[in-house]
Amino acid sequence: MRRQRGTKIVATVGPASAGRAQLRALFEAGADVFRLNFSHGSHDDHRKVVTHLRALETEFEHPVAILVDLQGPKLRLGTLAKGPMTLKRGQKLTFDLDPAPGTAKRLPLPHREIFAAAQAGSLLLIDDGKVRVRIVAAREDSLDTEVEVAGTISDRKGVNLPDLVLPLSPLTPKDRKDLDFALSLGIDWVALSFVQRAGDIAELRKLVAGRAAVMAKLEKPAAIEHLDEIIHQSDGIMVARGDLGVELPPEAVPPLQKRILAACRAIGRPAIVATQMLDSMVHSPTPTRAEASDVATAVYDGTDAVMLSAESASGDYPLEAVQIMDRILRSVERDPLYRRLMDASRREPEATTADAISAAARQCAHTLSAAAIVTYTTSGSTTLRAARERPDVPILCLTPSLETSRRMTLAWGVHPVRTEDAHNFADMVQRAVRLARREGFAAEGQRIVVTAGVPFGTPGATNILRIAYV
Ligand code: PEP
Repeated sequence: MRRQRGTKIVATVGPASAGRAQLRALFEAGADVFRLNFSHGSHDDHRKVVTHLRALETEFEHPVAILVDLQGPKLRLGTLAKGPMTLKRGQKLTFDLDPAPGTAKRLPLPHREIFAAAQAGSLLLIDDGKVRVRIVAAREDSLDTEVEVAGTISDRKGVNLPDLVLPLSPLTPKDRKDLDFALSLGIDWVALSFVQRAGDIAELRKLVAGRAAVMAKLEKPAAIEHLDEIIHQSDGIMVARGDLGVELPPEAVPPLQKRILAACRAIGRPAIVATQMLDSMVHSPTPTRAEASDVATAVYDGTDAVMLSAESASGDYPLEAVQIMDRILRSVERDPLYRRLMDASRREPEATTADAISAAARQCAHTLSAAAIVTYTTSGSTTLRAARERPDVPILCLTPSLETSRRMTLAWGVHPVRTEDAHNFADMVQRAVRLARREGFAAEGQRIVVTAGVPFGTPGATNILRIAYV
């Protein structure tokens, strides 16, 4: 299962891809991580997908990461009395807590938290920002507004309030149930939607209690204000450009994508660039040139992974979307400019033994034209430090932990292999050589660079670097 690239592909699973044969085809074509979007589908649907993916792991003897995306506190209108309704520019509208169906004069907005935080002058966006209304007066249980951008609304359309930090619990009762269920299936990553502060991730982390890695979806302006703290609290980050581009103007998204990716790289957290990457492939077998360029840009920006949403979940061409994404990633990574950019954006190692060893491993691999860097790890943290270096060779992650091997499939350049810890120095070298060869990363006569920790089997003890001949 050796991939010919460092950047990973996350494929969202849905009706177009949930069958065993379809998942197998996506995996073979290059999907490294599978995302289950808990905004859609039943628990039963998700359970079946997890069963299929675990069977694939056994068949291919290669770990697969399953990323569960919790819906989070998505805000929605109530229902309308007479079906879809067109709002005109300048129209006056009141939003209130009354559950009675909405009319041309008032609309139900069943979220008390909005009224607690609303302020005159703030914007309220409906249906991914297609309709914009400005709050002119805010009271405890109603908001007077004026329509600024006209459009048609219908039952339960999504609502965004980009100017406000809402006193919402980041995990709704549905999220808590979904989380319990997902953890019972043994999934690997949990992503939280609409994160606003680092405390939201801390709350999720407490509930997850080490049973999965936690990811923050960055899609709120408030999250950008607390970017560094949120990244520090999280094991991974998703640049959720769909909602981000609703809450902020579209022109704000590209610089933010670059800023978030640079911040993740600086501290070595895996990052995913998500949403609308190959959007036209929902109905077309080929992407637009602009979409191909968008995927490529994320790679040049140094992302760990790129994500397919509707393209693989409900589109007409899920397999073709993974195939073209794989080709774009490989094409960028062959470009000498990509290597120059990765080298130029390399951060100084932190003053830790693991970073000193990781930086030395990158330098040795480059100087000796080695075939691979091989990292022994328990939690995956040493492997992530090696990935932060963006070496010009692949990184093998040898770990006794099944969970770590699965989580690490998301990280740039990492090929995880589950194996016992090294028993002694000779075993460490022989095992690394044998596995690098078996997995197709090194041939006879080539060199590999091995990092490990003595005493063997002690987590967090990376302190040796060995260069070995295959
Ligand atoms: C997004 O908004 O970009 C995103 C990934 O979230 P979702 O698909 O859940 O809307």
